[in-house]
Amino acid sequence: MISKRLCIALLCVLAVLVTGYAQVSSKDKKPASNQPTARQETALPATDGKNQKQETATPAADAKTPKQETTKPPKPALPYVIAADDFSNLQLSDATKPIYDAHTLSDRISLGLPVALPALSPYYSGKTAYLTFDDGPDDEVTLTVLDILAENNVKATFYVTGINAATYPDTVRRMVAEGHAVGNHSYDHDYDRLYSSPDAFLYEMVQTDEILYGILGFRPLILRAPGGTFSNFTSAYEACLEENGYVEHDWNVSTADTAPGNPTAQDFVDNVMAQTADGKESAIILMHSSSGHQETAKALPEIIRVLRERGYRFGVVTPMTPQPW
Ligand SMILES: [Zn+2]
Repeated sequence: MISKRLCIALLCVLAVLVTGYAQVSSKDKKPASNQPTARQETALPATDGKNQKQETATPAADAKTPKQETTKPPKPALPYVIAADDFSNLQLSDATKPIYDAHTLSDRISLGLPVALPALSPYYSGKTAYLTFDDGPDDEVTLTVLDILAENNVKATFYVTGINAATYPDTVRRMVAEGHAVGNHSYDHDYDRLYSSPDAFLYEMVQTDEILYGILGFRPLILRAPGGTFSNFTSAYEACLEENGYVEHDWNVSTADTAPGNPTAQDFVDNVMAQTADGKESAIILMHSSSGHQETAKALPEIIRVLRERGYRFGVVTPMTPQPW
């Protein structure tokens, strides 16, 4: 009897559960059921269709994405040009972008690539001023100079030493990122060692290139001989640089910001004004941005203003920049 009752009770429970479920499921269906369901069903394929469209649209979008990706790299144009392996792209038609080499000298030799540059015509395009800053970088004067150049939308050239580049690599990266040219200015500016022989000079150039390559992933082709070539170079030095693909530029305007007697910013402005009074077509202007040259930074806004007033545009030094004499 008990089991019968139990069975009945269980059956009742089951019946209640089933009915409840049926009600619940029909309730569940109801809101979405009947027409709505049908709509949904008709809508669904439509949605599916849309989805398919979306899917077909998505691949299209996907297709666009790679396109954008392929068109993107040239879009944020690099502020510099990388030399072709065979140097065939060096003859640029403007002086606004620096040129670097993706290979060090030793890489070029080991890869069997040309080392000497092809014959390049000097670039002329009206009065151009090349602001050049030697001996840096540091973490004070050079940063101020970079700020002033940015404020005035002027690109310049920094001939850095290997030892200072290694000490302030972020400043070197900033120079390049902001479109300035970085050139080689020996490892540590030691005249005795540099000018003991052409090979010794070349050794320091290579040493500094390796440091710059480590920081930037490329190296300059331009250099400035510490102290200038006039009293330091013989024809053997010139031949050595030519054979190894380096282009040296001295200057034809000097701020004389390393002169003794604590010269002031106004002296530097006066020197630039006096030396550009002849309206020279190409003015390569010597300045220094190493530690202690705050007066140079102070003079810079006025130097830029004066040169602009005299009709100069500003260029960066490249292998095609005309020699100052
Ligand atoms: Zn120097």
